[in-house]
Amino acid sequence: MAIRKITVIGSGTMGNGIAHVFAQYGYDVTLNDIRQEFLDRGMKTISSNLDRQVKKGTLTEEQRSAALAHITPSLDLAAAVKEADIVIEAATENKPVKFDIFRTVDANAPAGAILATNTSSISVTEIGAVTKRPESVIGMHFMNPVPLMKLVEVIRGLATSDATYAAVKQLSEAVEKVPVEVNDYPGFVSNRILLPMLNEAMYCVMEGVATPESIDTVMKLGMNHPMGPLTLADFIGLDVCLSIMNVLHEGLGDTKYRPCPLLKKMVAAGHLGRKSGKGFYEYPKQ
Ligand code: NAD
Repeated sequence: MAIRKITVIGSGTMGNGIAHVFAQYGYDVTLNDIRQEFLDRGMKTISSNLDRQVKKGTLTEEQRSAALAHITPSLDLAAAVKEADIVIEAATENKPVKFDIFRTVDANAPAGAILATNTSSISVTEIGAVTKRPESVIGMHFMNPVPLMKLVEVIRGLATSDATYAAVKQLSEAVEKVPVEVNDYPGFVSNRILLPMLNEAMYCVMEGVATPESIDTVMKLGMNHPMGPLTLADFIGLDVCLSIMNVLHEGLGDTKYRPCPLLKKMVAAGHLGRKSGKGFYEYPKQ
């Protein structure tokens, strides 16, 4: 099936990045959110990220204008998916919110349309089960920032068909991403491996093994990681780290995934990392 029309749901960090990439490659994108101010903010971010590409010389002024002209903002979800070949949901990470969206999308998207989710931690199989077309439901887990990061973890739910997987693989390659096939288990591959490492770094702080600076330096210089685990945890948000650890712990039932008590304490205190101004490091307001 030839995919031309893409509807992206949610114009936040991930949604505006996904819309940006597909518009840049000439797809017709409808970008949906619940409030005009969120759509305006998403479009502004896309516009300034495209500007940066023009300044770097990776995009011409004409290509920038063409990409923006390919995006139609919309506040009406039912109308936004009416003609979609694929819907990519990147709304808030919350089960009832996503289930509601998928019910509406299922009722309004064309029969052959693929319904993809960018969820980091919710089961793709469960999302598929709220629709009447679980064979067409799949995970497309993009990485932040979407225009720069090559990986798309493609998550097959229990009912996802081979045809749906093949179409999503082809679509990812068409925008020069690298799709990797993964089955639907808690945390998929990326978060199942990354988050326990961040959690272990937090145990090292809690037990006084070393300071955050020393731990990050060991991992940067010793393991060649571009960013230390505690800097990365602050960047992701400690509340997001805790919620993913809880998903791993509950979903896999193994004590090796228990969230570090220091992480729980910091989240309870409102120390959420970069976004709150304090996490393992301090971030003075600019
Ligand atoms: P965000 O908070 O930046 O954006 C979410 C957007 O969804 C907001 O603009 C919000 O208004 C909108 N939204 C909420 N309910 C909606 C509804 N019913 N209909 C339409 N829009 C709605 O969040 P984000 O960081 O972009 O995350 C989006 C998804 O991507 C989540 O599932 C998250 O787990 C996943 N994800 C995030 C990252 C990341 O690094 N931020 C990486 C990979 C995957």
